[in-house]
Amino acid sequence: MGEPLDAYRRKRDFAATPEPGPSPDPAGEAPAPRFVVQEHSARAMHWDLRLERDGVLASWAVPKGIPPDPKRNHLAVRTEDHPIEYLTFEGTIPEGNYGAGTMKVFDTGTYELEKWSDREVMIVLHGERVRGRHVLFRTRGKDWMIHRMDPPADPGYVPLPERIEPMLARAGALPGGEEESRWAVEIKWDGVRTIGYAEGGRLRLESRNGNDLTPRYPELRELGRALGAHEAVLDGEVVAFDAEGRPSFQRLQGRMHLAGDRAVRRAMTENPIAYVLFDLLHLDGRSLLDEPYTARREALEGLGLAGPHWQVPAYHAGDGAALLAAARERGLEGVVAKRLDSPYTPGRRSPLWLKVKNVRRASLVIGGWLPGEGNRTGRLGALLVGFHDDDGSLKYAGRVGTGFDAAALARLGALLDERARSASPFSGRQPPRTARFVEPDLVAEVEYTEWTQSRTIRHPSYKGLRDDLDPGDVGFPADG
Ligand code: MN
Repeated sequence: MGEPLDAYRRKRDFAATPEPGPSPDPAGEAPAPRFVVQEHSARAMHWDLRLERDGVLASWAVPKGIPPDPKRNHLAVRTEDHPIEYLTFEGTIPEGNYGAGTMKVFDTGTYELEKWSDREVMIVLHGERVRGRHVLFRTRGKDWMIHRMDPPADPGYVPLPERIEPMLARAGALPGGEEESRWAVEIKWDGVRTIGYAEGGRLRLESRNGNDLTPRYPELRELGRALGAHEAVLDGEVVAFDAEGRPSFQRLQGRMHLAGDRAVRRAMTENPIAYVLFDLLHLDGRSLLDEPYTARREALEGLGLAGPHWQVPAYHAGDGAALLAAARERGLEGVVAKRLDSPYTPGRRSPLWLKVKNVRRASLVIGGWLPGEGNRTGRLGALLVGFHDDDGSLKYAGRVGTGFDAAALARLGALLDERARSASPFSGRQPPRTARFVEPDLVAEVEYTEWTQSRTIRHPSYKGLRDDLDPGDVGFPADG
């Protein structure tokens, strides 16, 4: 098919005649084709990329959004063409309708077309947030991939890390005197330390020892959505609250060791949880690990995260004594002091973070149990606990005979049965002769008053199991 001005052009040499040549665009300035990326919070969060083409918007649904990094391609599913008017559509598609959910314009602009076939579309996007050369290529049926061909828009772009081990606090006393004003103080939340990796509207949760906790807390999927297109690594504590609104490690037990989605759903109603966020380690292509505490907190607060199952409690600068007293009054575990200029040191127990506790807690390995008496005859009476010595052997530390509620007794009974063995796992000093032994792969959290000279724990009371610590890592004094 010839262009409309072919004949006019063919008959003339525009280097020689003063007549006007045809403009490259017969209609004058043909506007560059437009594009839009819409953030679509439907049943599954995704971003819709739409390109103006032949009077319609060719569309792809991109579950993880337009990739910022050429190293990572994202799936893009070809969807039906949309009318041009959709370029500016924002709003809520009511429940029960196709694509129900909210649609927001994430970015819009123009693009240059470099190639368009039914299996490959190469474009240069000129938006506010999305820029640069990209290629969409078809892999199978409606499945395409989108690849960024340009280097990352931000030259210092750092991809989302796979894993950051949480920074840990040392046990200590509150900084006083002149030091006080250099420290922030936070409530110590009695739950399970959890690192959250957010990308493409999805959140992955991981425990201290690298267990995937994502399926355990379905209510936190919404937090992934709330973070939208941000790439972020969050640090915080997953907690459950008791009837008085206090964080309760015991309550959280009901969210562990669940088999199957139905059990998880039921537990969600019975034991609701909250993700208490207190640090931000990575944001949108930038590591924040070397930033001071105050800058990381500012960035975290800037995300405006507040939802039904997540919160960012304020920290207090100075005046730790008042917060510690308030915590004691409310029956809370204690506070954590963090130096305002401290960087984040993954996996390290740093002197720049200090935990100051009202109660003493320890994590200990369960190596056996003693049958009870009275109404607990034949059932669990006391746990036999220990810790690993420097040479790696398991040392007996005493028995834990209180702190069990009915749910804990049932749960422990089943778990201990599965682990029964005849030989003692303890080396050296042994527990009473009536002891039943188990494989030492469960870790119990206990509250106690003190350790004796012979490293026996005094007045321990059971608080719950923890699966965020590997038994092999539990040593003396095993302070949680
Ligand atoms: Mn959509």
